[in-house]
Amino acid sequence: AGAKSQGVLTVKTETAVRSNGSVIYRMDDRIAVLEISNPPVNASSLAVRMGLVDGLARAGADCAAGVVLIGAGKCFVAGSDLREFELPLSKPELPDVIAAIEAAEFPVVAALHGVALGGGLELALGCDYRIAKPDAQLGLPEASLGMVPGAGGTQRLPRLIGKSRSIGMICQATRIPAAEALPFGLVDALAEGDLLDAALTFLRDTPRTKRRARDLTPPPEPTETVQAAADQVLRRGRGRPNVAEAIRLVQGADGDASAMLADERAVFQTLRVGPEATALRALFFAERRAAMVDSIDLKSARPVRRVGVIGGGTMGQGIARAVLAAGLPVTLLERDADALKRAVDAIGTHLQGQLAKGRIDAGQADARRAALTGVFDTAGLADCDLVIEAVFEDMGVKREVLAGLERTLPAEAVIASNTSYLDIDEMSAALDHPDRVIGLHFFSPADVMPLLEVVRARSTAPDVLAAGLALARRLSKQPVVAKVSEGFIGNRIYAAYRRRAELLALDGATPQAVDAAVTGFGFAMGPFAVADMSGLDIAWAMRKRQAATRDPGLRYVTIPDRLCEAGRLGRKTGAGWYDYATGKPQPDPAVAEIIETERRAAGVTSRDFPGEEIQRQLMAAIVNEAACLIDEGVAQRPSDVDVTMCNGYGFPRWTGGPLYWAARQDRGRLRADLTQLAQASGPAHRAGPVGAVLGRLMSATEE
Ligand code: NAD
Repeated sequence: AGAKSQGVLTVKTETAVRSNGSVIYRMDDRIAVLEISNPPVNASSLAVRMGLVDGLARAGADCAAGVVLIGAGKCFVAGSDLREFELPLSKPELPDVIAAIEAAEFPVVAALHGVALGGGLELALGCDYRIAKPDAQLGLPEASLGMVPGAGGTQRLPRLIGKSRSIGMICQATRIPAAEALPFGLVDALAEGDLLDAALTFLRDTPRTKRRARDLTPPPEPTETVQAAADQVLRRGRGRPNVAEAIRLVQGADGDASAMLADERAVFQTLRVGPEATALRALFFAERRAAMVDSIDLKSARPVRRVGVIGGGTMGQGIARAVLAAGLPVTLLERDADALKRAVDAIGTHLQGQLAKGRIDAGQADARRAALTGVFDTAGLADCDLVIEAVFEDMGVKREVLAGLERTLPAEAVIASNTSYLDIDEMSAALDHPDRVIGLHFFSPADVMPLLEVVRARSTAPDVLAAGLALARRLSKQPVVAKVSEGFIGNRIYAAYRRRAELLALDGATPQAVDAAVTGFGFAMGPFAVADMSGLDIAWAMRKRQAATRDPGLRYVTIPDRLCEAGRLGRKTGAGWYDYATGKPQPDPAVAEIIETERRAAGVTSRDFPGEEIQRQLMAAIVNEAACLIDEGVAQRPSDVDVTMCNGYGFPRWTGGPLYWAARQDRGRLRADLTQLAQASGPAHRAGPVGAVLGRLMSATEE
């Protein structure tokens, strides 16, 4: 057993099974089977790579006629072990394993099920043949981690399936099911029954020769097709250096294989330890941590077999679509038959659209339609284990809805609110069992946006919190746990960011200059374009509600009030911070005039703001508010803020998130930014403990 990670260890059984703990070797009538067993997802760790190299040598010594590589448990290989990527890689590296496969005299078949991703797919591409379960997911996600595939992915994939397809698959990190990959040759056969049997038969029934992908020439296609694929991903890749490198490497895939593989490896090694890949790995680990809460065991979660949704508006429909897509039945409640019909029809239309776009098949569309029940009486929700309310953002309405649910639902059913800002403790205070209430704050559109803020109210029971986290996993959402606070984590930080943006506009920056600075930082849209898209009226209503309690020690920007009074509510009215007469946002002299008037009224002397100053001030606002809410315990840990902002608010992932970014800035400079923020905000500005929070983020023990 001492030889566990040192290669193949002989175990004395009559079938001569050998194992190094991570790769099990066995002979099946002249075919050697190498079974990768590294739970939970067979990551290609050092031990796996050693086991494979030893197993291949063993197969040679045993005069095997062929080899099958297969994964134990739920998948083939989900990728490399990212923890190893922080350090120099140990030998044998993955290209060494693939070189051993290619050098072997016998054909090697990769048998794929579950997922074959990243290094897992590269390993399979290094084999002579690939056979797969039809639903096996194949992909090279390295680009989403700031890298390029480094074990031949950019070379072997295009030689098998062509350059343009490879550019799309690699640069957009798309996964495709094996059934779809068969026609273009990424897999050679599908296995309907037992995968290992099918792979053995594949080798036995027809004589198979060596067929190394590196020796093939990419299937011919017009240069323009390849260029079009490259242009498309460059636009979407927002200028990330790894995307450009991946394209260059794929385009070179008809060159000398050894030289191109060496080129790819060198690029991979440089990018792997570069700032973007390092930040993206930190975010990857932060996302995994965010789904965990100390002392909460997901296995304790109250079971959820049917979900109720109350309110079939924007959010209710989106939530219903998300739950249906996860294969759970939904009961949707609306106020009356008309409203219910509108909501159910809209979901049906959406399914039809998904079907037309080929995103789902007819069977899935039918199953989802059949799994949706509409009711307009709370009694219809009696068999739901978890009910999410998405009615109007009004405390009175929500309290009434919760009271009705308590009367109807079985005692153990969970009640969730999708409120954006309201106090969930106050909402549940009148219930007999407020411990069954939780916040589940989805983002719009709820079936698309990955983030789910799981709000733990003061009274929320542990098994109810666990149910929220389990639902997030079931829906493939990224959960972040928050405590009650106006706007929880994300909306609260966003409000501080928007406030700073409005102050910048008041003090001299044009809305378009602010938006340009923000997109220049890497966001898809700036704050004013976003405000126009979501509508200015919601924030306006909130400001009117809060007018009486507004702190006079904080500077107040009147510009958006004037815009709303002028009927400029954003895109939906054809004008907001911008004019939309042409369909696209255009700067509007009328807005400039409003701004100028408000400036004069506020006694502001305007000045120019360079783009970098705008960026740094907006970052300072985000970081300061994050520090305040971490100080209050609203977020469990600093890295949860990064996860929230990157998954729900378009913060550029390759920065690692706002706090990861801030922790890498010059401290003196950051302090100066925070001082400027305080001055611009007004005497009542609250400075968060930024230094302490960044210190916590940087210390490995805390995280
Ligand atoms: P919406 O106005 O589009 O939908 C609300 C729906 O609830 C309406 O269809 C209405 O008929 C229905 N409704 C109201 N009272 C009801 C009752 N007593 N019983 C049954 N149905 C009732 O609003 P929305 O944008 O979907 O927002 C709903 C909730 O989600 C709000 O709390 C909002 O703050 C929150 N939220 C909204 C967004 C967003 O981007 N729109 C994002 C996150 C959270």
